[in-house]
Amino acid sequence: MNSTQGRSLEVHRLPHGSAVLVDGACGSCGSCMAGAGLHCTRPLAEGRVLTEPVPLAVAEELLAAIFAVAALAEVPETDTVVVAAQDSSSLAVLVRAISPSRVLLATDLRDDTLRAELSRLEPSGRARVVVAGGDVRAAVRAVRRGGYVCVGGPALDLPSVTELVQREVSLVSPRDAAAVLDRVSAQVWSAAVAAAA
Ligand SMILES: [Zn+2]
Repeated sequence: MNSTQGRSLEVHRLPHGSAVLVDGACGSCGSCMAGAGLHCTRPLAEGRVLTEPVPLAVAEELLAAIFAVAALAEVPETDTVVVAAQDSSSLAVLVRAISPSRVLLATDLRDDTLRAELSRLEPSGRARVVVAGGDVRAAVRAVRRGGYVCVGGPALDLPSVTELVQREVSLVSPRDAAAVLDRVSAQVWSAAVAAAA
């Protein structure tokens, strides 16, 4: 599993407790040419500043949310996406703004209300796509057989290979987070910053 280290989209600290997100992708190496600029092999020393300054205290949360949305951008469109996050989080703001799917949120994927809603919406009672929080194993157990689990950052609890293979679940990582950030309007970004704890 990738960690957030070694990725070309990073938090850069500014004076006075603020920070910006900077994209260091070179745009011309093999990874960049393959649409995986996040894994640029020749990152620029002076990257491209993608955001207005945000409070340093929320910069990492915003970066993690962008990574999770970028992982979601890699999977086929589907009717319903389940996101393991709080309803009022920056991740919720960004997924709702960018995904064309119906978005259901729950911090606990075994939540009764979530399960009841999924039974109503999906023949299998499970979503085809789940955006994991830290607990990837819970997301793998919650997703439909043959589905996709989007993993933005470091995983706290990983499923075994057997669990993945038996249920034919694919784990999906972000490839181009800067492209996602480019699609976020100033208004949505402000809402995401405000929502970050
Ligand atoms: Zn590159």
